[in-house]
Amino acid sequence: MSATASQHYDIAIVGAGPVGSLCALAHARNGARVALLEANPKGSGRLAGEWLHPSAARVLRDIGIDADQRPRSKPGKGFVVFPEDGSEPILLPYPDGSRGLVCDHALLVSSLRDAAGNAAGVDFVPYARVKAVDDERVFFSANGAERSLVAGRIVGADGRASIVRRSLGLSTEPMLCSRMLGVTIRGAKLPFESYGHVVLGGPGPIFVYGLADGCIRVIVDIPPDLWKSKGRNGFLSESFARFLPGGLERVFIEALQAGQFQMAANQLRPRITYGSPRRVLIGDAAGHYHPMTAVGMTLGFGDAVALAGTTDFRDFVAERFRASRVPELLAIGLYEVFADRRTEAAALRFAIYRGWRTNPTYRNRTTRILACEDLSVTGMSLAICRTVAWAVAGEISQSFRPFSLRRARTVCHALAIRLWWLLRGVRQLQKARRGEGKEHERTRDILARTFPHSMSSGASGSHPPHRSTRCKSGI
Ligand SMILES: Cc1cc2nc3c(=O)[nH]c(=O)nc-3n(C[C@H](O)[C@H](O)[C@H](O)COP(=O)(O)OP(=O)(O)OC[C@H]3O[C@@H](n4cnc5c(N)ncnc54)[C@H](O)[C@@H]3O)c2cc1C
Repeated sequence: MSATASQHYDIAIVGAGPVGSLCALAHARNGARVALLEANPKGSGRLAGEWLHPSAARVLRDIGIDADQRPRSKPGKGFVVFPEDGSEPILLPYPDGSRGLVCDHALLVSSLRDAAGNAAGVDFVPYARVKAVDDERVFFSANGAERSLVAGRIVGADGRASIVRRSLGLSTEPMLCSRMLGVTIRGAKLPFESYGHVVLGGPGPIFVYGLADGCIRVIVDIPPDLWKSKGRNGFLSESFARFLPGGLERVFIEALQAGQFQMAANQLRPRITYGSPRRVLIGDAAGHYHPMTAVGMTLGFGDAVALAGTTDFRDFVAERFRASRVPELLAIGLYEVFADRRTEAAALRFAIYRGWRTNPTYRNRTTRILACEDLSVTGMSLAICRTVAWAVAGEISQSFRPFSLRRARTVCHALAIRLWWLLRGVRQLQKARRGEGKEHERTRDILARTFPHSMSSGASGSHPPHRSTRCKSGI
């Protein structure tokens, strides 16, 4: 079917990526008339999200998508972390034996699009590039013709460079965190079947997971200052390959040399708004983070289902801020702690490893936060306080060794500053409970300063200087 100017829809969704397609399906199940517009159907073959936490896997099952029954998909049992000192890997299974899902991105998107396109009430228009949006009309080109349609609500599920976001006067200027290279290896096995392997020690973290029997994906995170196209294979082989577990080093280098890889840029845009009641932003259009904690699609699916489940935009906004705050902070914070090469970040990392190894409550809390199931900011703040306290205690105990006092003093000072920003952020959060926009931006900014790198957007008031340039604006 085709969407035309004469047709009026309840909902027009710009972008049939994973989140837009699920949003179309969820609205159609509630009886809405939906137009789903997609500019570039083949774009889903790019390197993008493949790991879904259990809550997102449940959303798919509940809506009738059986992605787990298809080839190139596997259950995800949780994570296993390989510390940089070569010590024993640390297993972080999902709580209560729940299962996530790992699925080839293109396959996941095509399953969702097919289901949306076949659903009663949905008009899916492929190759429809939206060019402008106002409060009730969407202007797009399709098959060489300029067209428009009218809708009661327009949903921007059009990703990081969202045109719906821009139509609201909001920035889509990219803030580059790092780049990623995804290598596909066939005929190899992982040491921990169905676990996501997080490997530390190289210039950036490595994430490895199985996609199908004998097929694994190695995702290498490359900091922007180390990115180069000339001599890249040599650099990757030397700097990353030796940290790979289970004899993957050789097959990784071979796959790299055979050109079996794709590249992607990682960007950061914290959620500060969901748009307006007539032009709603969801998924990556609302916000996006470094993918190491794999929350992009889980949060996006949550947006889609919540939007279809309520008519009150304010309720939707309140629910989504509540659901996204902790996963967002974890995505920003954990990546920064894992990628940062400074001494205080290393002290935090070793405190985290120690906590995971020795304290089951701490370990369970981490996996619940990772899985987007523990949404308590207080709980997360306590976990961070505890980590900082362990790191400080570790430094103090080492300071009695010769020449270690100075280092301990520097590290403890840096950690005390983080703690101070955390406490300020949590206090600000109490004020911003239902707020949006500036209040939220300020809270988020203060809390982000808890972590080593902080974000590059400036908050008013005095604050410690940013010592990193990892997130570069405008690249
Ligand atoms: C390397 C990498 C690894 C990742 N790994 C994970 C992971 O393991 N788990 C996870 O949850 N997340 C991961 N993510 C993030 C995840 O890919 C995104 O969160 C997810 O794709 C967002 O879905 P979306 O539908 O909001 O946006 P997108 O996937 O960007 O889809 C937007 C759609 O809108 C279309 N579009 C854009 N502009 C227009 C227009 N003007 N008109 C019409 N259509 C338009 C696009 O063609 C596209 O199909 C990863 C990201 C990267 C880069």
